[in-house]
Amino acid sequence: MNEMAVVVVGAGQAGLAAAYHLRRRGFAPGSEYVVLDHSPRPGGAWQFRWPTLTYGRVHGMHALPGMELTGADPDRPSAEVIGEYFTAYERAFELPVLRPVDVTAVHDDGAGALRVDSPSGTWRTRALINATGTWDRPFWPRIPGMADFAGRQLHTAQYPGPAPFAGQRVVVVGGGTSAVQHLLEIAAVAADTRWVTRRPPIFREDTFGEVQGREAVAMVEERVREGLPPRSVVSVTGLPMNEAMRAARASGVLRRHPMFERLTPEGVRWADGAHWPADVIVWATGFRAALDHLAPLRLRESGGGIRLEGTRVVRDPRLHLVGYGPSASTIGANRAGRAAVNDLLALLGSPVSTAP
Ligand SMILES: Cc1cc2nc3c(=O)[nH]c(=O)nc-3n(C[C@H](O)[C@H](O)[C@H](O)COP(=O)(O)OP(=O)(O)OC[C@H]3O[C@@H](n4cnc5c(N)ncnc54)[C@H](O)[C@@H]3O)c2cc1C
Repeated sequence: MNEMAVVVVGAGQAGLAAAYHLRRRGFAPGSEYVVLDHSPRPGGAWQFRWPTLTYGRVHGMHALPGMELTGADPDRPSAEVIGEYFTAYERAFELPVLRPVDVTAVHDDGAGALRVDSPSGTWRTRALINATGTWDRPFWPRIPGMADFAGRQLHTAQYPGPAPFAGQRVVVVGGGTSAVQHLLEIAAVAADTRWVTRRPPIFREDTFGEVQGREAVAMVEERVREGLPPRSVVSVTGLPMNEAMRAARASGVLRRHPMFERLTPEGVRWADGAHWPADVIVWATGFRAALDHLAPLRLRESGGGIRLEGTRVVRDPRLHLVGYGPSASTIGANRAGRAAVNDLLALLGSPVSTAP
């Protein structure tokens, strides 16, 4: 059994930011804190994003604390750029990331500590910073007829870029930025496309500045404080318009259809009986927080969410959720990592070691 003061689960933006601050505050890497991650390489979820999501197309990627990301080629896939940046970051700050380590469950050990289980080992820790993101929990809505559809269905998490959709009839479902990006790419090569969303999309013509950002975060924060599941970012920010989207609107590609009622073997059918034959359905329907490993701790409120005060779990102050709800952005993840470490210092006292 490995004994730690803090275990960080997840080495994406949020987990690395937390690890950086643990180190700065004097926790010894590897003996007082460790970062466990089940992905094969550095990069968090970015390593799995589709090749056409180039660095120039991500919006508002904030650097990790203490090291800028400079000179990146905007035409290279963000998976590569950010993977390399995270690799350099982990090395520069000698962060103790162990991978692949799949955390399967976290238990209260009954003696004041938490037990972190994985097939690669067990850790006993006084506190845990959870930074497991959402990529591992793609959300698929349940629609009648899904099992009967004869074509292909895939989620954003499996989106390979537009090439395989050449000449096909494709339905893209979802009202977020990923859906719009998939649609515009696919429409350039497909025989035909349909864009389907549950609610009418709200396009933003204004620039999304700091004030709007703060407002959006405050709305999600309020839900999390009440113990409700956090809402998706787009539900509070709307879809920022760009040139490509304006052109797609003018050409009819970015024309929203309401949600269909069911899938048939050949396509999709709306409540009014209209039917559209399709070869592929792309479910760009978002993600949920990947928190199954925390289930033994029974952290959920009756509202279905986990109540937080800042990043601290109200039901168990040994736990912090970073990159969750209001901090599910690169800038939010940075701030949350720092806040969690500051808060844990009050709980744990100063670390034993004096690591720089
Ligand atoms: C398509 C897409 C584009 C985005 N673009 C932007 C953008 O441009 N700007 C922005 O600010 N935000 C963007 N976001 C939001 C973005 O995901 C966050 O900003 C941020 O990168 C998430 O960091 P994270 O550390 O919380 O999670 P992740 O990057 O998902 O990292 C979580 C890590 O935890 C690991 N993990 C998960 N479960 C376990 C487990 N049980 N055991 C061990 N390890 C585990 C995973 O392997 C992963 O490495 C985007 C999101 C998506 C889906």
